[in-house]
Amino acid sequence: MKVGYIYDPIYLKHDTGQHVENTKRLKAIVSHLEKTGLKQRLILIKPRAAAIGELSLVHDEHYIAHIRDVAQKGGGWLDADTVMSSDSYEAALCAVGGVTRAVGAVIKGEVDSAFALVRPPGHHATCERAMGFCLFNNVAIAAKCALTNYQLERILILDFDVHHGNGTQAAFYDNPHVLYISTHQYPFYPGTGSIEETGSGTAAGTTINIPLPAGSGDSEYLEVFEQIIVPAAIRFKPQLVLVSAGYDTHWADELALMQVSVTGFAQMVKIIRRLGDELCNGRLVFSLEGGYNLRALAASVKATLDMLLGNTTIEDPLGQSPYRREAPSTASLIKKMKEIHNLA
Ligand SMILES: [Zn+2]
Repeated sequence: MKVGYIYDPIYLKHDTGQHVENTKRLKAIVSHLEKTGLKQRLILIKPRAAAIGELSLVHDEHYIAHIRDVAQKGGGWLDADTVMSSDSYEAALCAVGGVTRAVGAVIKGEVDSAFALVRPPGHHATCERAMGFCLFNNVAIAAKCALTNYQLERILILDFDVHHGNGTQAAFYDNPHVLYISTHQYPFYPGTGSIEETGSGTAAGTTINIPLPAGSGDSEYLEVFEQIIVPAAIRFKPQLVLVSAGYDTHWADELALMQVSVTGFAQMVKIIRRLGDELCNGRLVFSLEGGYNLRALAASVKATLDMLLGNTTIEDPLGQSPYRREAPSTASLIKKMKEIHNLA
């Protein structure tokens, strides 16, 4: 398997200081891939800066100009959670360009699959608003570019970040060419992602929200993957799968209350890989979203890449959650979701 990864030191120039979403995240991932020898088995793909025309497929032109202006003035806070520095605009352009480049490399067959190790993350960014540490919506823009540039008709975006990807959902809420499926802690930030949000107009049914209770772990996630995500993906027949890969779902992450382990992420990726192989010639592009416990993040990204490479042994240095008590039941959620989305 030829697996590519997108990385560039430009992503470290998005300087957020002591903010939880900081440069240490990518440094930890890259250093772990180096130490474990995995990096040399991957193909490095360099990003490019996205063009304004690409950003404006998702974002309002005034908003794009606003982000550029804040950077030129030295940076600042965009909302209560989201901060940028003078180089963040350039880094954010390259984050978008990293994901679009990864899609191009997979579609053209330069690599079988790819992981864009980018920051700032993107799935909360809406048409005209930065939020939740996100400036531009990397995955949404890459999906819109892919629909146009490669004449694709069906793209699946799968988002397993612990937070709901409100920006991505909004970008495709009335677009039947993109199936957006999100698993997330609910109720939780940013407030969206209820089971009733299913898409509108001709896109009714192409948004699938799987709101999980706090405390859900590997078995609950794997259950909804097999029972909801697999049949929904098979029915949609995507030509490309984009994954908003957020590792704040890990039990050791302090931003949320889920109980997924590194092994759990690996099993989810195994299912995603099986879907990719069966449905779209293995065309998978992962893009980094959240994940704030550095050890858990680095080990989980490595496990993801291991699964993409076809390695069967997964290293899980953190093991299972020591906090796990009674697992919340997903049975009634799955039953309700099957009814809403007509899944057998
Ligand atoms: Zn998140």
